[in-house]
Amino acid sequence: AACGITSTIGSTHVGSIEVQQNTKEGPVAFDTSYIDSTANPCENFYQYAIGGWMANNPVPETESRWMAFNILNEQNRQKLIKIVAEVSKNTKAKKGSDEQMIRDFYNSGMDTAAIEGAGTQAIQPVLAEIDAASTVDDLMILLGKLGPLGVGNPVGIYISADSKNSNANVVYASQSGLNLPDRDYYLQDDAKFADIRSAYVKHINKMFALADQDANVGERILALETKLADASWSRLENRDPNKRYNKKNFTEWDKSLKNIDLKKIVNARGFAAFDTIIVGQPSFYTSLDGLINEVSLADWKSYLKWNAISGAAPYLTSDLEKENFAFYSTKLRGTTTMKPRNERVYSKLDRTLSQPLGKLFVKEYFSEESKEYMVNMIENLRSAYIDRVANLTWMSQETKEKATQKLKAFTYKVGYPDEWEDYSKLEVVGDSYFQNIVNARKFGYDKMLEKQGKPVDKTEWHMPPQMVNAYYSASNNEIVFPAGILQPPFFHKDFDHAINYGGIGAVIGHEFSHGFDDQGSKYDWNGNLNSWWTEGDRAKFDALAQKLGEQYDTYSPVDSMYVNGKLTMGENIADLGGITLSYEALKKQYNGNMPEDIDGFTWQQRFFLGWANVWKGNIKDEELRNRLKTDNHSPGEYRVIGPLVNFGPYYEAFGTCETGAMHKHDSTRIKIW
Ligand SMILES: [Zn+2]
Repeated sequence: AACGITSTIGSTHVGSIEVQQNTKEGPVAFDTSYIDSTANPCENFYQYAIGGWMANNPVPETESRWMAFNILNEQNRQKLIKIVAEVSKNTKAKKGSDEQMIRDFYNSGMDTAAIEGAGTQAIQPVLAEIDAASTVDDLMILLGKLGPLGVGNPVGIYISADSKNSNANVVYASQSGLNLPDRDYYLQDDAKFADIRSAYVKHINKMFALADQDANVGERILALETKLADASWSRLENRDPNKRYNKKNFTEWDKSLKNIDLKKIVNARGFAAFDTIIVGQPSFYTSLDGLINEVSLADWKSYLKWNAISGAAPYLTSDLEKENFAFYSTKLRGTTTMKPRNERVYSKLDRTLSQPLGKLFVKEYFSEESKEYMVNMIENLRSAYIDRVANLTWMSQETKEKATQKLKAFTYKVGYPDEWEDYSKLEVVGDSYFQNIVNARKFGYDKMLEKQGKPVDKTEWHMPPQMVNAYYSASNNEIVFPAGILQPPFFHKDFDHAINYGGIGAVIGHEFSHGFDDQGSKYDWNGNLNSWWTEGDRAKFDALAQKLGEQYDTYSPVDSMYVNGKLTMGENIADLGGITLSYEALKKQYNGNMPEDIDGFTWQQRFFLGWANVWKGNIKDEELRNRLKTDNHSPGEYRVIGPLVNFGPYYEAFGTCETGAMHKHDSTRIKIW
C-alpha cells in the first residue's frame, strides 16, 4: 500500500492562488513577512515562524483547509486548467489520443444543458436492477456486479502485492461499505456526532426524493451502516499489518460463511478462479455473513440504491450535486462554497486521466536539473541514515546490520514515470459526462483485474506526477516524489540548501523513516512482511514509539478533542526521523563550507523555518474534527513543533529555550533515529 505524506480526504481543491510578495527575481525561498516577530520561538515555534502568514491567509470559502500543500496543489491546478482549456478547443484531436480524451471528458462535463436535460436517467437502470432483486441469490449477484461500476458495498475484494511475497499479486478481502468518514461517526455518543447522524438521515431522504425514489429510508440505512460500523475494525486495529494478514483457502473460507456467497460475487466481478485469499478483517466478514440474513432484503436494496445515488450525485443534475456538497463538504468539512463548474470538472479529470494530464504538466514544469538535485539529496539522506543507524545506542549490532541492508536496498522514483500508462482501453465520449465516469471506473477496475496471477509491476506509480505529495511503498521498499511536490515552497533548484533540506529534504527523510516506523519496520529489504528485528530491539523501539505517542496525546487543537498518538504514530515517527536525517544530510551537502546568513538568519535557523513553511496552514473546525478521527497525520502545527521539542539542534539554533512551552529537558527528549 502507498502511504502519502499528507492525506486527501474526499474531494479537495481550489480557491484563488496565493499571492506572494515577491520583490526578488524568481521564487522566494523563505519570505520573512511570514514570521510573527511578536511571538516567542521558545513558546510556540509554529506561531513564530508562520504566524504572520496565518493571519493573512484565512481558509477560502471553497476550502476546508488552506495549507502549503493545497496552495501548491492549487497553483499546479491553475497551470493545468489553462492547458486543459486550450486542449478542449482542439477540434482535430485523433480518436483515442490524449488530447481527444481530455477534450471530450472536459467538454462533456461542461455541457450542463445536456446534464440537466438527462436528469437522473443514467442511474435509473441500476436502480431498477436493484429493485428487481427478490432473493438473497439476487443480492449476491448485485453485490458482485455493482463493484466494477464503483457502487460502494461492504465486500471489498481486490488484487495487490502479497505482503509476504512482494513479487506476486494476490487477492485480498477487506472491510468496506461505510459512507461516513469513520466508524466513530456511527458509534460515538458525543453530541457533535449525533448531530451529524441526524443530518445524514435527512440528507439520504432528500437524495432519494431527488432521484425519484421512496424517500423515507434514511433511518433504515443509517441503522444498517451502524451495524457495519460495529463490525468494522478501528483504524488503530488496522495499523497492525500482521493482524491484517490472514491467509485462507478461498473455497473453504467461503463455505464457512453460511449466507454470503463470495464465489458468486467475485465471478460477477470478473475475477478468474483462485485458491488463496488474504483476509484483512476476518471478524468483519463473519459479522457481515450474519447481517445478510438479519437485515431485510428490502433494507439491503435501499442501502445499495443509496450507494448508487450518492456515488453518481456529483456527475448528475445540479440539485443532486448541491445536496451532496451540502452534506459531504459543508456539514462534514466546513467548506461553504462550491468551486466554479470548470474547476470541478477539472478536478475529476485530474483524477480520471491523471497520467495523460501529468504528461502535459511535466513537459512544461519539471526540469532534469531538478531531478539531479533531488537524486543527490536522496543519496545524502540515505548516507546520513546509514551513519545514524551505526551510531544508535539502543539498537543491537545484529539489527543494525539488517537495518543498513534495508537502507541500501531502498529504491526511489523522482518526477514522473519512465513509461506512461496505456489508456487505450478507456473510451471517452463527447456527449455523456456520466458515461465517461462509468467508463473510467470500469477501466480502473479492469486494470486491477489484469494484475491477477501476474508478477507485481514494480515500475507502477501510485500517485499522479502532478500531485503535491510523496509516498513510501513497503512492498516495493521504495520512496516516490512526484514532480508536483518538487516546487516552492518545498523545493527549488535555486533555493539555498537550508531551505531545500528543511522542506523537501525533511520530506525525503520522512519517507525513508516510514520504512522503519511502527508499520514499515515490519517489512524487510525485499518488501516482505517478515520480522528482522531481535525481540529486545523491537521492545526498545516500541517503548520509544510509545513515549512519542504520549507526547502527541497531549495536543488538543479543537473542543475537547485530542490528537490520537497511536493513530498518528507512523507519521510522527517519520516526521521526527525526517528532520533529524535531513539536518545531518544538509551538513554533508555543505561538506564543511558553511554558508553566510541570509536575511539575518543562520543556515540552522533557515532549516527550521523551511520546515515550518511546508506545514503552514489554516483549517476549519469541522475539517479538523474530521481529520482527528480519520487522518493518520497530526495537524500541521504539531507536525512542526512535535519533532522539534525532541531535537537538540533546534534548541541550539534558537537560543536554548530553557523556559517556555517548547522547552523539553535533554533527558526527556525522544530520539529514535
Ligand atoms: Zn508519511
